[in-house]
Amino acid sequence: MDASSLKSKKVIVFDLDGTIVRLAADWHSLRKLLNTRYCEKYKEKGHFHRMSDLLSDIIARGDEEELYHNFSIMQKYENENITKNEPIEDVIYFVNNKELFGVNSAVKLAVFSLNTKSTIIKSLQIAGVVNKFEFYIGREDVRAWKPNPEGLLKIRDHFQVLKEHMIYFGDLKMDLVAGGNAGIESYKIGDLINLIKKVRKN
Ligand SMILES: [Mg+2]
Repeated sequence: MDASSLKSKKVIVFDLDGTIVRLAADWHSLRKLLNTRYCEKYKEKGHFHRMSDLLSDIIARGDEEELYHNFSIMQKYENENITKNEPIEDVIYFVNNKELFGVNSAVKLAVFSLNTKSTIIKSLQIAGVVNKFEFYIGREDVRAWKPNPEGLLKIRDHFQVLKEHMIYFGDLKMDLVAGGNAGIESYKIGDLINLIKKVRKN
């Protein structure tokens, strides 16, 4: 990507973990706990490597109550070590100084993440940029998770903009696939960081 990709945009969307901050949650224990709970609850063996797949299975069972219980367990695990989050400095600089990168000052920033909404907000607070963001889509805001594009399409609906006026940055291939599925231009955050470093050097 180059700076021209940013110029025509009205909404810039970021993933959270690995993109704006690095979360310090114990994902391994969380996944294990949710899997154990699933097996006990439904008397079925089943090991879900992806927590999204486990939640999708619960949705297919129509068990909304269990779904919310899972969300609250995730929130607890994500929040436990939240003060150990590491903000990604170049990205925080970009968020605070987006006009230096040819981004119009009216451009809106949003987050599309697999983490719970409270984790998104607390992480942005800790990084000192919560007031720079206008909208968040977290784990509990959608019923189909990345690489499904539901969250990105919800963000588009919220801002009422064309797909062409949005851009999405994430750290995983799954993020790029979600962007592609939404028809929204998407890049690895490393590409943006390279641009940020170049601008900061000059
Ligand atoms: Mg990520």
